[in-house]
Formats: sequence, structure tokens, C-alpha cells
Amino acid sequence: MTKVQNLTILGATGTIGVNTLDVVARHPDRFNVVALTAGNQLEKLVAQCRQHQSRYAVVLDADAATRLRDLLAAAGLQTQVLYGMAALEQVASMPEVDTVMAAIVGAAGLRPAMAAARAGKRILLANKETLVMAGSLFMQAVAAGGAELLPIDSEHNAIFQSLPREFDGDLAACGVRRILLTASGGPFRTTPLADLAQVTPEQACAHPNWVMGKKISVDSATMMNKGLEVIEAHWLFNAAPEQIQVVIHPQSVIHSMVDYLDGSVIAQLGNPDMRTPIAYALGFPDRIDSGVSALDLFGRGLTFEAPDYDRFPCLKLAFDALAQGGMLPAVLNAANESAVATFLAGEAGYSDIAASIEYALAHAISGEPGSLDDLVEADAQARRDAEAYLQKRKVG
Ligand code: NDP
Ligand code: MG
Repeated sequence: MTKVQNLTILGATGTIGVNTLDVVARHPDRFNVVALTAGNQLEKLVAQCRQHQSRYAVVLDADAATRLRDLLAAAGLQTQVLYGMAALEQVASMPEVDTVMAAIVGAAGLRPAMAAARAGKRILLANKETLVMAGSLFMQAVAAGGAELLPIDSEHNAIFQSLPREFDGDLAACGVRRILLTASGGPFRTTPLADLAQVTPEQACAHPNWVMGKKISVDSATMMNKGLEVIEAHWLFNAAPEQIQVVIHPQSVIHSMVDYLDGSVIAQLGNPDMRTPIAYALGFPDRIDSGVSALDLFGRGLTFEAPDYDRFPCLKLAFDALAQGGMLPAVLNAANESAVATFLAGEAGYSDIAASIEYALAHAISGEPGSLDDLVEADAQARRDAEAYLQKRKVG
């Protein structure tokens, strides 16, 4: 009999959180929910607490906690309510938890993921921003804490599945030549370049293949998502930038590939549904039912294109930030978060996203981060720089 895994799901009310709970509900014999966390969606959180009998629920602040306590009491639930960053860190590291799904969006996910790493948990990492911002410190914490890291991002999960099980951070020792990171190319892959400046948030969020949160949908449109994933792959698989090739594959059937020295290319394929990588990581090393239908290969063509940096300048900015290293990936990430939020609010144009990130990178102080506090400071400065750039554009 498999031991029951006790779970904390950070970002339970988001797209990844909901998909995780969908898989969890299919296997009551394997999983037990200990803690669920949310941002603003309190009613959804209550419904999840009811269905999964969560012992703890965590929200952002005291106000939200009061409202949540009332909602839980009205529903007759005993769930204990906690709030704030310290509580997120607590439920990510408490002894009764085996596995932590890290699915908060953005830089807010960093500290709880670090807490899970230090506490030696099995971490299912969806929050790619953790690795982009703090790859070196996070991987050190994983090693020092004896944590087990399983990637949720579909590409990295595909690479993980395509590498030998004994892979321990040495690609050359496994005969790997390159990692081929696939990208859909997003909704603007074929939009005339001259029209890109006018595209709206709604158009940017209408991803052709995946249903995702708004921020990552915009990142997919600009291909910053792929840029962040290049940096993520660098840390997860100890891959040099030149060992990572981005391949546009508009059908999103192949989720990434590993190219070996003997000419073999091993890929993982499947329908574009995040429950597949989530189930793989939840069940690892077992294969468990995810609710995803079998892949039907008939009647569809698989095509591949090289990315064009004129169309996707954010991808180039990410490769450059990775090559320069130090705090620049954190600056890239923060400036992007800030610019995407401004774009989603209708207060910046689509083309301003890349331009403001470039501005923030040019004004950033480089150098290696000594601690998380250094990164938090670089993050804040990058947001201020990106905002200043966008403000100037608005006034001008
Ligand atoms: P969503 O926006 O759908 O969900 C984000 C979750 O984080 C929600 O539960 C939200 O709460 C919570 N949250 C938001 N802000 C904060 C904050 N400041 N503090 C604490 N909690 C917060 O995002 P996704 O599920 O799409 O993505 C989650 C992560 O997974 C991201 O890092 C993304 O890059 C990554 N990822 C997502 C994929 C996908 O297919 N969606 C694929 C690969 C990676 P609430 O909604 O209650 O406000
Ligand atoms: Mg991905």
C-alpha cells in the first residue's frame, strides 16, 4: 500500500491549484489535504475547504482572515484560518506536510517555496518565478534541506520525463546534447508585426491551446514565459544557455524534448492539459489517472519554427539576462510582472512591456545576490524603474 501524502497547496484557487485538486479528488486513498492558500477568492477557498476537509486555510491579511472565518463558520467548517507571509511559510514547512504544491503566481511565491525547500519537503514547483528570481539560493536550499524537486511547468516536466531517472545534474554524463524547449508561439505568432502595438489585454489572454491565469497568458503572448522557462531549465537541469534551444511548435502536443549525443531525441507528448504534469509529479514515481483523455494523433500535423526576436524581444531579453546572471534574472522577472500588470490594467501598450523591461535591465545593478533580501531589493527597484518608464511613455 502507498503511504498517504499530506499536501499543502499554495495558490489553491488558481488554475494550477484547481487542476491539482481535481487530480487529488480522484485519489482519496493517496492524498490528504492539510492546507490550502488563496489570495482574493475566498468563496472558492471555502468550497475547496469543504470538499477536501482542509485543516488550515491561509489568506493574505487580517481583513481577509476575518471574512474567511465568517464564511467558514456559516458553512459549519472547522478549518483553522491563518494569514500573511509567515503563515504561508508555516504551512509550506510544517512537519505534518509531506508535499507542497507551489502554485502562487509571481514573486509572492518565493518565500513559501524557500521555506518548503529548507524543510526538506517534496516540492511540486509551478511557480517558475522562484527559480528565475533566486535560482542559485533556491537550489542551494533544496540541496541543504534534502528536498525533492519535481517540475510542474509542462515543458520542464516533459524534460524531466525524457531524462534518465538517474540524472543528478550532469547532462554530459547522461549523453545529453541539448534541451529542446517547445513553445506554442501564443496568440500573436502570425499577427502582422505592425499590428502588435495595438493588441488588447483580451487578445493577449486568448491563448490558442492552454487555459491559464492572466499573467502567464500575457507572458505566453510575449514569449517572456518561454524566456522565464529557459532560466528555469538552466537551474533545474544545470543546462548552459547554449544547451537550451527554443522551438516553436504551435500545436502544443510535444511538451519538450531531450536531444542525445547519439542522435536520439526523446520527447513527451500529450493533450495540453496541466493535469498530466501535475499527476506525474503527485504520483511520482507511479503513474496515476489524471482525468486527461488519451492523445489522438490522427488528423493533426506537428510543425516547428524558429523564434523570431523581432516579434518576441522578451525572449532575447531573458537569454541576455541569463547570460549576464547575478540579479539580472530577478530584475527581468520583476520588471515584467510590473509591466504586465500595467498592460492588463489598460494603462500601457503591448509593445511597452518589452521596452520597459529593457529599460529596467539597463538601469539595474548587477552582481551576485548574497541573500533573499538583496533579491527583494533588486525586485523592488526593477518595478520602480519599469513603472517610471511606463509613466514617462504615458505623459510623453
Ligand atoms: P493564477 O493567477 O490562476 O493563480 C494564482 C494563485 O496564487 C491563486 O490561488 C491566487 O489567489 C494566488 N495569489 C495571487 N497573488 C498572491 C499573493 N500576492 N500572495 C499569495 N497568493 C497569491 O495562476 P496560475 O495557476 O496560472 O499560475 C500559478 C503559477 O504556476 C505561476 O507561477 C505560473 O507561472 C505557473 N504555471 C502555470 C501554468 C498554467 O497552465 N496555469 C503552467 C506552468 C506554470 P486568488 O486567485 O484567490 O486571488
Ligand atoms: Mg510552461
